[in-house]
Amino acid sequence: MMPMITPSRALIGFLLALSLVPVFAAQFTVTLVNYIGLYALVALGLVLLTGIGGLTSFGQAAFVGLGAYATAYLTTRHGMSPWGTLIVGMAITTAVSLALGFITLRLSGHFLPLGTIAWGISLYFLFGNLEALGGHGGIDGIPPVDLFGLELGSSRGFFYVIWATLLAAIVTTQNMLDSREGRAMRCLRSMTMTEAMGINTLWYRMVLFMIAAQFACVSGWLYAHLQRFVNPTPFSLGHGIEYLFMAVLGGAAAVWGAVFGATAVTFLKEWLQDVLPKLLGVAGNFEMVVFGLLTILVLHRARDGLWPILMRFIPQREQVKTVEPALPLPRRDVLACGSEVLKVVKVTKRFGGLVANNSMSLSVRAGEVMALIGPNGAGKSTLFNCISGVNPPTTGEIRFMGQRIDALNSREIAKLGMSRTFQHVRLNQDMTVLENAAIGAHLRGRKNFVQSAWRLDREEERRLLWEAAHQLQRCGLGEHLFDAAGSLPLGKQRIVEIARALCSDPTLLLLDEPAAGLRHLEKKALAELLAKLRAEGMAILLVEHDMDFVMGLADRVVVMEFGEHLAEGLPQEIQTNPKVLEAYLGGVEA
Ligand code: ADP
Ligand code: MG
Repeated sequence: MMPMITPSRALIGFLLALSLVPVFAAQFTVTLVNYIGLYALVALGLVLLTGIGGLTSFGQAAFVGLGAYATAYLTTRHGMSPWGTLIVGMAITTAVSLALGFITLRLSGHFLPLGTIAWGISLYFLFGNLEALGGHGGIDGIPPVDLFGLELGSSRGFFYVIWATLLAAIVTTQNMLDSREGRAMRCLRSMTMTEAMGINTLWYRMVLFMIAAQFACVSGWLYAHLQRFVNPTPFSLGHGIEYLFMAVLGGAAAVWGAVFGATAVTFLKEWLQDVLPKLLGVAGNFEMVVFGLLTILVLHRARDGLWPILMRFIPQREQVKTVEPALPLPRRDVLACGSEVLKVVKVTKRFGGLVANNSMSLSVRAGEVMALIGPNGAGKSTLFNCISGVNPPTTGEIRFMGQRIDALNSREIAKLGMSRTFQHVRLNQDMTVLENAAIGAHLRGRKNFVQSAWRLDREEERRLLWEAAHQLQRCGLGEHLFDAAGSLPLGKQRIVEIARALCSDPTLLLLDEPAAGLRHLEKKALAELLAKLRAEGMAILLVEHDMDFVMGLADRVVVMEFGEHLAEGLPQEIQTNPKVLEAYLGGVEA
């Protein structure tokens, strides 16, 4: 009987076969696998950048060139040791990537890829035109790397350096993605939500960009010492595009997709180069034509690349489905019940000619549920966006625990202790319910991406996940911790958003239509939860259409119509207020 393939067996088999390549394989194959390792390292950076961060870069080859030229120049012209030049190369790459990232990562849509093309071209021409770098002729005579006195001049010896580097990069990347930092990175596509959870999205884009650039730089350094000669050709825009192909064809959502993509593209091109001239009977670079067509086919048929397809043939490991108990996270001071938490004074919000909020005022106290009601389009969500800094007011004043916040951005406001949910659910549908909730606890962790890459964040990570599990349990989602958020019905997804908001330990909670899509018993449970939070001293501002829900729960109600303050009072008063009844067309229903 064939032994069953499992992920760990597949990995062990792969590593074993890999380690034997330099021992048994022909020189040609060793060289090819060396190059696969170098390509995969660059593609791994693109998995982070593109697959995780949603940023497309065509310019990675230029960073490979930075690493390669830094060591070529410094070892041959200044006699520096290769290990020294590696550090210098990485320092240069850090500086260049931060500078380029600072400019280009603020661009949106197609401007970002265009930006990467622009600097990809500039750096390429810089390499070719600088006399000190040997111009188009390049630099030769690059010394081999020596490791503990062992000179790694042969491509067989260097094989282990290349692949050990790649594997280390894969492991640290995987660690990083499976952490607080990684969760933030995986949510970068949903910028509004991520910022509202207190996460600095520009910073995380910069980090991803810098890591991808470092991987490319190290690949370039390895390349220079493998080849012992550099010229500008391998660092052109064309190669930058090829790296992107490798990542996307392999599967940009998984770190192993990079290795698979680099392998598939390299072997495929070699093979096509071999068979096409024979098949066609003429010599020429037809492999690029066929390669291009195949790429289109794969992207058409398998948008997520080839890796997920391969994984279908390997039974996946049972996910660990427990959350380890840990110490609770420190909490904010609770305000005395009745003290004013939020004060909105004459807030006006204009969208061009449309006045969505017109001189709106309201206040919310600690230990109070304040309901904001009004017909669709009245401007309730707009007011939420003003209060939470998602879309700041045009004029007016907003104070949160006495401090003016109308000029702060949503990230700064989240830090002060306000958290919110969205009328249109904003979850990462592919992440688990637990991971989604843990995003809300982001600000309660401190460990950075280097610490998570090296697993120095485990204690904190346990505490964050424990908090997320606890909040989800409170919200009645204890059975769904490990389900993909997208697999839940929409009503439950809204509750995940509430748990996520609670993970930040907020003083003020803003809920935009939390009961929409819930069944009767679920609404009842939600009302009980909110009543409990109120009893603990939390301030809650709530937009809701279900009048039974609102009237049964709220302490005070504010009614909006056409962006304006229509009425305010106790639930009973609102229910009998003639103005309100008229606004609701003769009945309290919506
Ligand atoms: P509610 O939440 O009470 O249903 P909204 O606050 O969503 O109402 O919308 C109030 C008005 O503002 C609507 O007319 C809506 O079309 C408009 N509006 C909301 N957001 C924007 C925006 N970003 N740009 C332009 N108009 C907007
Ligand atoms: Mg709304």
